[in-house]
Amino acid sequence: MRDFETARGFGVYIHWPYCARVCPYCDFNVYAAKLRRPDPLLEAICEDLRAWRNLTGPRLVDTIFFGGGTPSLLAGEHIARVIECVRDLWGVKAEPEITLEANPDDFGRFQSFRDAGVTRLSLGVQSLNDESLAFLGRTHSARDAVNALDVASSHFSCVSLDLIYALPGQTVKAWEAELSLALSLPVGHLSLYELTIEAGAAFARAVKRGDWTPPDEDLAADLYEVTQLMCEDAGYPAYEISNHARSPSDASRHNRIYWESGDWVGVGPGAHGRLTARGERLAIETVENPVAYQKQVGSCGHGRSVLQSLSRLDQIRERISMGLRMTEGLKIEDLDTLGFQPSEPEMADLQELGFLDRRTDRIKLTLSGRLAADRISLLLSP
Ligand code: SF4
Repeated sequence: MRDFETARGFGVYIHWPYCARVCPYCDFNVYAAKLRRPDPLLEAICEDLRAWRNLTGPRLVDTIFFGGGTPSLLAGEHIARVIECVRDLWGVKAEPEITLEANPDDFGRFQSFRDAGVTRLSLGVQSLNDESLAFLGRTHSARDAVNALDVASSHFSCVSLDLIYALPGQTVKAWEAELSLALSLPVGHLSLYELTIEAGAAFARAVKRGDWTPPDEDLAADLYEVTQLMCEDAGYPAYEISNHARSPSDASRHNRIYWESGDWVGVGPGAHGRLTARGERLAIETVENPVAYQKQVGSCGHGRSVLQSLSRLDQIRERISMGLRMTEGLKIEDLDTLGFQPSEPEMADLQELGFLDRRTDRIKLTLSGRLAADRISLLLSP
């Protein structure tokens, strides 16, 4: 069992669960914002951060990530307040990465986010095609997205853009045109996700009713391959299954902490965190419902609903499934530390089938392997 390793980084994730409107494909822990006052939840988040500080002890924070939900619904002063709270409790390393997920509709507040200390904006564009945006239930147009991106680039040196592909009826040609437009925009980072039909989302009910059918697996695989090739050619190689960066400094340092099994604080309703302390790897979750979360923080001084020590097996499984997501692969040494070696015949088979690339110190997925990452993780896990 290892202790906390500074090299893996230490991050803080803040979940803001409200959105202007809940998108039909989304199954995150989100709620319609309506006309709520943000202060009670912000106070609960800061109180929960204080409770986390008691668990972690003194450490320096590498990254802060405001995710959701739509944290760009908040004002710059709210974001500044939370960053200040993190600074007061732990201290923040020089040149921290502070990311905020933003909706293009909120472009008017981008400058105030930068003034609050945010260093990286992740823009939820989702599509650069108006028909697709309407299908995805988004409130902005493609034009609005490009304008928001211009505003974002004028304030942030690192801007990321999210797009969803494999929409019903989308052809390879149509996606190529959209991706080519995205690659011509002033962004350092692209997160490109295949549309997945999540059980709890409105889209799952639409598919069940037969309103439309998602693309079949073969077409989805073709779209993934086209995505990889076009991004590679344009100088945005994948550094993770769905994430592409123009240079190593554009890659998300915060997400790397997840993929490398580092430690991170998770506050806000339904947030998850991981903590390595006293020889244990703790998995921590918070109360999902925002009102219940605030109540619990008010009565107990923390928002935790789960605090459990992960078994060695769970740690190995998590290490494999997360580590294999990265293009650079999983360090064999990381599995050695946990006293595990994947089955030699299984690895040889996967290599023979062209799914795995084995180096002396790492196991990596090939492009075809990335398409079957979850299945391969299971095969290599105990
Ligand atoms: S996709 Fe984003 S904006 Fe839409 S409901 Fe989910 S978190 Fe909110």
